[in-house]
Amino acid sequence: MGSILCYAPVAGDRIARSGEEVLAAGRAAAGAAGGPVVAALVGARVAGAAAAAGRHGASRVLLAEDALLETYQADLYLTALQAIVQAVSPRLLLFPSDSQGRELAPRLAHRLGAALIAEAQGFGTRDGRLAFTCQAYGGKAVATLVAQTEPVVATVRPKAFSPAEAPAAGEPTPVPVTLSSQEARTRLLRKVQEEGGGADLEVAKVVIGGGRGLGGAEAFRLLEELAKALRGAVGASRAATDAGWVPTSWQIGQTGRSISPDLYIAVGISGATQHIAGVASAKTIVAVNRDAEAPIFKVAQLGIVDDYRAIIPRLTTKIREVTGKG
Ligand SMILES: Cc1cc2nc3c(=O)[nH]c(=O)nc-3n(C[C@H](O)[C@H](O)[C@H](O)COP(=O)(O)OP(=O)(O)OC[C@H]3O[C@@H](n4cnc5c(N)ncnc54)[C@H](O)[C@@H]3O)c2cc1C
Repeated sequence: MGSILCYAPVAGDRIARSGEEVLAAGRAAAGAAGGPVVAALVGARVAGAAAAAGRHGASRVLLAEDALLETYQADLYLTALQAIVQAVSPRLLLFPSDSQGRELAPRLAHRLGAALIAEAQGFGTRDGRLAFTCQAYGGKAVATLVAQTEPVVATVRPKAFSPAEAPAAGEPTPVPVTLSSQEARTRLLRKVQEEGGGADLEVAKVVIGGGRGLGGAEAFRLLEELAKALRGAVGASRAATDAGWVPTSWQIGQTGRSISPDLYIAVGISGATQHIAGVASAKTIVAVNRDAEAPIFKVAQLGIVDDYRAIIPRLTTKIREVTGKG
């Protein structure tokens, strides 16, 4: 039976949270379609994380280690992953739906001539073929996609699967990789740690999103104050990022980031399908919009029809009073 290969990013001797979610997805896929769960670890020194991959359900852990893999570089990581794929011939390859996974998955699928599924949130089979559930129409519907060919490469929707320990053998197996620095067509010049805002969007329990209705970059300060009081993060619609009011990395939606907070407060955002696609997994959506007909109110559990300038500062003050924080 073909294996399920899970690409798990590593953080020191641990599997990164995104990798733990992918391993949880791998176990769910194995439950539906059978086959062993195999972890793929790529980096300069990743053997230390093999035991952690085993604790999260990997019966085997394939290690592609090379000094050139010290920092993430897509061309080199793809070559390493191809070597791992050759070693196990998986039926299904799973990636996190983060910036690495969204780059690696389609490129690897192309190299392998494989099918590609984006943001899988469930697995099954139909007449022996692998089947996937994914959100469609901005979360208004769930589509079942049946792969017509194998292998299948899929990204896993963030937070669709909760990491849990499920001890398995975690047998580490080094995979020889031949890499040349010539292969790398890009070079990392420097890393900049983004402050606040976009940095924490995927893990934040509370996210405040700002849209064109804010009228300018200055107004995002109000959202930052509210986010601080709620210990949350600030994101934005594409209209706001396209206008240059906030960094592009803050964009939430179909072509931005997918978030799953407990609470999403959309301020001055109309609720276009492409925006809602990124917030459909939020537990509660609150909308502040001065147009009572705005589509955002169709998906919000709570709506305030008013000018945000009349609402946000008062809300922040009230939350500070109640929590004594911020
Ligand atoms: C292929 C494609 C991909 C896309 N991907 C994304 C994506 O990933 N993310 C995304 O967000 N968009 C995306 N878009 C764009 C999307 O279609 C919308 O254009 C965009 O989301 C609109 O942003 P907005 O809601 O901020 O602006 P608008 O639609 O202009 O809405 C502004 C809202 O603010 C309200 N408002 C105005 N003034 C105030 C005030 N003072 N107080 C309160 N409310 C006020 C208005 O009533 C209005 O509802 C994509 C589009 C395409 C074609």
